Amino acid sequence: MSTLPTPAPTVTTSNATFWAATAEGKFLLQRCSSCSTIVWFPRAHCPTCWTETLSTFEASGSGTVYSFTIVRKGRNVYSESAPFVIAYVELAEGPRIMTNIVDCDPESVHIGMKVRMVFHDTGQGNALYRFVPHS
Ligand SMILES: [Zn+2]
Repeated sequence: MSTLPTPAPTVTTSNATFWAATAEGKFLLQRCSSCSTIVWFPRAHCPTCWTETLSTFEASGSGTVYSFTIVRKGRNVYSESAPFVIAYVELAEGPRIMTNIVDCDPESVHIGMKVRMVFHDTGQGNALYRFVPHS
């Protein structure tokens, strides 16, 4: 088990609201008011019907490991962090997001594992979303 670094994300006009909410422990998704598609990642228009009428709501933070890999040799700021897990987690709301599974033995991670979201403060006015095992 290792502690992962918390490099600050690149904040743009499209994702500024999303990243600001992470500082409050909130993970925001968007829903299209025209076709009901749940949109991930943050953007100005629906990727299904191209309308710009998206509303924002807070995700539950519950998910399931869809796929993962164990990184055994990290690079750059992650060079001292291996082994650690990079995973796609399928949120309860549907979207699959790339993330880390933390606070557990990387060898214990498996597809279908129930996880819940946690936030790691970057010190730059936002936080990184990661997941921990959840029974
Ligand atoms: Zn739509």
